[in-house]
Amino acid sequence: MTEIIDQASELEEMLREQAIAAHRINRNAVSATHCVDCGEAIPELRQEKVPGCQRCADCQQDEELRMKQGSI
Ligand SMILES: [Zn+2]
Repeated sequence: MTEIIDQASELEEMLREQAIAAHRINRNAVSATHCVDCGEAIPELRQEKVPGCQRCADCQQDEELRMKQGSI
C-alpha cells in the first residue's frame, strides 16, 4: 500500500515541478492536451489562451484556491 502512495505522490510532485518550471522558464510552453488532475481533454482554445496550462479550467480554479488557502 505505502509503495503505491509513494509513487502517486512522487508523480504528483513531478507534475507540479514541471508546471512550475513551465511557468518560470518557458512563456511559449506547450499546453497539456489533457488535465493533469482529472484527465479531461483541455479545449484547444484554452491551450492557446493559456500557454503551458496543465489543467482544465475547473481544476485550475481548484488549484488556485488551494494555493491561496495555503493548504496541502
Ligand atoms: Zn481537470
